[in-house]
Amino acid sequence: MEPKKVLIIEDEKSISDIIKFNLEKESFEVDTAFDGQDGLAKALENSPDLILLDVMLPVMDGFAVCKKVRETSTVPIIMLTAKEEEVDKVLGLELGADDYITKPFGMRELIARIKANIRRTEIVDSLQGEPADVQVFGNLEIDMNRYEARKDGISLELTLREFELLKYLAERENKVFSREQLLEEVWGYEYYGDIRTVDVTIRRLREKLEDDSSEPQYVMTKRGIGYYFRRP
Ligand code: CA
Repeated sequence: MEPKKVLIIEDEKSISDIIKFNLEKESFEVDTAFDGQDGLAKALENSPDLILLDVMLPVMDGFAVCKKVRETSTVPIIMLTAKEEEVDKVLGLELGADDYITKPFGMRELIARIKANIRRTEIVDSLQGEPADVQVFGNLEIDMNRYEARKDGISLELTLREFELLKYLAERENKVFSREQLLEEVWGYEYYGDIRTVDVTIRRLREKLEDDSSEPQYVMTKRGIGYYFRRP
């Protein structure tokens, strides 16, 4: 099997070095960039399997890089955020990052996250040849097998996580889930994040799915409890 390629975009050389060392020990192929512009170029040219992206970077910050990469690529992105930068996590997710990890982090946790995120894309890739399993909810079609959602025949271009969230809720129509339950079930591994991750992902999903995201017709809020899916 080809080694998986991880691109580390981090300007602190000591952090970059130790991550690189540990990833190479785990048989990953590692590429590094020390500023945002170089990182973006490498992200676009070398098609890594995953990007570790620091927020505070010279030349171009991590948010700008994330946004740019997302214009053309669904590669998993894990943002590295500093502990005091609470707001950063949410912004990173809004710009399309898949996950974030707070500095200082343990190497074991980081590697577990990297593996979990790469595994999810592998699962999706392996499903591309599967027969379609399209379920229809009004003018929304969800192909449960191929990770595609279309509304009025037009693809919604969901990220993996947005799709998984939609799929999870749609397969359990009308059942209400708390944010904690969704974190555990949809994010899948022991998640150190907070429940706002769920709110942000729901908001992004609604912006793509709903005609008017302030008056949702599919992904509904049950006040004080959580979220559910219904047929409009
Ligand atoms: Ca930095």
